[in-house]
Amino acid sequence: MKTALFRAVSGAALLAALAGCYDVPVTGRRSLSLVDGAQVSRMSVQAFEDMKKAHPQSKDPERIAQLQRVGERIAKVVFWDMPNADWEFVVFDEPNEINAFAMSGGKVGVYTGLFKVVKNDDQLAAVISHEIAHVTAKHIDERLSKEMMSETAGNIGGMAMAGTMGVLATESIMNAYGIGADARSMAFGRQQELEADHIGLIYMAKAGYDPGEALKVMDNLVEATAGEPEPPEFESTHPSNPDRMRALNAEMPEALKVRAAAAAGQSINGPQVIK
Ligand SMILES: [Zn+2]
Repeated sequence: MKTALFRAVSGAALLAALAGCYDVPVTGRRSLSLVDGAQVSRMSVQAFEDMKKAHPQSKDPERIAQLQRVGERIAKVVFWDMPNADWEFVVFDEPNEINAFAMSGGKVGVYTGLFKVVKNDDQLAAVISHEIAHVTAKHIDERLSKEMMSETAGNIGGMAMAGTMGVLATESIMNAYGIGADARSMAFGRQQELEADHIGLIYMAKAGYDPGEALKVMDNLVEATAGEPEPPEFESTHPSNPDRMRALNAEMPEALKVRAAAAAGQSINGPQVIK
């Protein structure tokens, strides 16, 4: 018993030492992370390497060039929120997957199926910006932190004794991103989706894309996936599509202002503090 208690205390102390507050870009929401962001990045990069081995990559030069073009433009305006990112944009040859994801460390994957609903650069920018917003808002860190808190103190202590943050297994990372075996059980929360929509809308506007296309891509998606039980990540069931549309519409004036400022050459490379 004494050992278990000691472990629990050690674990709690380690968590407290690593815990850090951060401000979410654009929305300014304060959040708490219990995980080591640098480690999340390292493991994400490894998970992305594994993905590249497990899934065939597209050989379509047009799609590859389009993702590269749009991705680099978004990466530029995201710089201050992800200064250490080593950006990589990969088109995976999965024609039945209407999906995309972004990972800590600057790794972005798009499945060829996404191009069924993405009709132009602006719409691709909307999807990529949304995915990158999950990363800059540290939704993965929040998710992993919650997972850790739900472990018993004894378990956390044990892991702390065993090494540094053993809880961050590759599997946890993959699941947190929604691309692991339990992907569907780990959907982003309602608040996180709305937040990623908001931040993403500002990112695409800052990069000079038309924020109105974020609404169109959602329309396209509803059409393409009508009757399908499993919506892709950026179209998760919570919150409902009309809720997200309403929120995006409410944020549109702010996004248009940001786009105009970007077009005028103002504040495009500054930190992402809009309000
Ligand atoms: Zn999302």
